[in-house]
Amino acid sequence: MTDTDESSQFDEESYPSDGSLDYDSEDQDMEDSQFWEEDEEMEPSSDNFGAMSHSEAIQVDHTALAASSQRVLEPEDLLKGQAADVARVSELTALEPWRAELLLWKDDWKVDHVITKYLEQGEKVLREAGMLSDDPVEFVISKPRPDFMCFLCCDEDKATSFKLACGHECCTECYSHYLRGKIQENGSLDITCPMNCKEIVPKPAVMLLTDKKLQAKYQSTLCTRYVRAHNDMKWCPAPDCGKAVKANISVTDESVIPIAECNCHQQFCLACNIDEDHLPCPCKVAARWLEKLRDESETMTWMSVNTKPCPKCTNPIEKNGGCNHINCTQCGNHFCWVCLGDWAKHGSSNYQCNMYSPEQAEEDQKSVNAKREQLDRYMFFYTRYNNHRDSAKLDEKTYKNITKTMETLQKEGKMTWLESRFLPSSFEILRQSRQTLLWTYAFAFFLDAQPEREIFLKNQEDLELHTEGLSELFEYKWDRIPGAKVNFLDKCSYLKSRRQKLVEHVMKGMEERNWKFLN
Ligand SMILES: [Zn+2]
Ligand SMILES: [Zn+2]
Ligand SMILES: [Zn+2]
Ligand SMILES: [Zn+2]
Ligand SMILES: [Zn+2]
Ligand SMILES: [Zn+2]
Ligand SMILES: [Zn+2]
Repeated sequence: MTDTDESSQFDEESYPSDGSLDYDSEDQDMEDSQFWEEDEEMEPSSDNFGAMSHSEAIQVDHTALAASSQRVLEPEDLLKGQAADVARVSELTALEPWRAELLLWKDDWKVDHVITKYLEQGEKVLREAGMLSDDPVEFVISKPRPDFMCFLCCDEDKATSFKLACGHECCTECYSHYLRGKIQENGSLDITCPMNCKEIVPKPAVMLLTDKKLQAKYQSTLCTRYVRAHNDMKWCPAPDCGKAVKANISVTDESVIPIAECNCHQQFCLACNIDEDHLPCPCKVAARWLEKLRDESETMTWMSVNTKPCPKCTNPIEKNGGCNHINCTQCGNHFCWVCLGDWAKHGSSNYQCNMYSPEQAEEDQKSVNAKREQLDRYMFFYTRYNNHRDSAKLDEKTYKNITKTMETLQKEGKMTWLESRFLPSSFEILRQSRQTLLWTYAFAFFLDAQPEREIFLKNQEDLELHTEGLSELFEYKWDRIPGAKVNFLDKCSYLKSRRQKLVEHVMKGMEERNWKFLN
């Protein structure tokens, strides 16, 4: 089985490319080279907005994290990676490639570990991995012969047959049928002999007994396992993308947030399961925030517990003082918070609210106030976080109009396509800034009081102000765009440097373990 054979089989599966707008030739170059390159620093000459220098071409910084470098792996790259590992193990252990592959599968593709283990323990390792014999094996289909009977279908009539080293022989039709079922259930190098003995059906046998479509499925299951076995690799979560990203840095270092970007522009974190760019939030803080969002429903429950319907008009009323005498603002009803009875009767001789206790009411109110304060604080951050999410969704609509604007500018002879290419690039800067901004609120929510916090908040404020500024430019009608080009470019290069500054400030604190978070 050669490399090219494998990849052509794997290609049986379709990997549709997305139809996204390729607006940036630099972007295209990066995709070709498959390496995320660091863009040149574009520090404005001064913080003074007007006096800032700008460059004609806006460089979109696709590297979410300046220090990280990542590689996008196509299915072919994954196959090559596996083949290289197999070849290495095979060479150093003098085992056939299919045996080397089984050992790698068994030990999560830890190449050096597999080699050492085999050299130390030999045949025992093979047996544990499902190779009952180390005799040389030839994977061939036997011709029909009179003494053969298939143990599955009991057919003895001129059937071709197959068996592994364990000797359990059945007709090729039964064998293929059995393998099809296993492969469709995501079986790969864990498929055992149909007789249920421990012998694994190795890849060459599977290739011999299955069609191309099944082979592709089998190979893709193998690939999935290969990617999962590497903690620096992850599948792109975009549906039908089929590519993986490998980090060239340590993803277990907590001071690093390895945000990957696939060629399809999907961003995701290699260290946690958040499928977006969550900079500047460290993974743990981001996870805490998402958990907090999930608890929001609990908050809502709490609010409903602390709201009671007016017994007369059912208007929901929240108690906001210690006094249990409630006066409904909608219908003017006076009632008791505790028993919902008519307040006029409270304290009179013919009626008593026997649950009423001023001391208890005061206690309740204290805890209500504390919760209210926490909720208000949460709502402050949540509203801003969510607002940027909503704005990002609205921005997507803007993005769809960009091509139209560019076409109009060209048609009206105001700008060539090339001259208006700053529009999609500017949009990318806007998108990135918003993405970072929304996570700054999650970060700030958990941030304990500390001097560096003030710097962070200042950076956040600055980024927010100028993000909105750029966002406004996109509201312009097409005929104002040519005149605003310089403004676009200025705002973009400023925003880009502000975003970088904010992220770097947070990362520096992470490296030095300076950030103090609330419990
Ligand atoms: Zn059979
Ligand atoms: Zn067997
Ligand atoms: Zn992708
Ligand atoms: Zn993460
Ligand atoms: Zn009162
Ligand atoms: Zn009422
Ligand atoms: Zn009462």
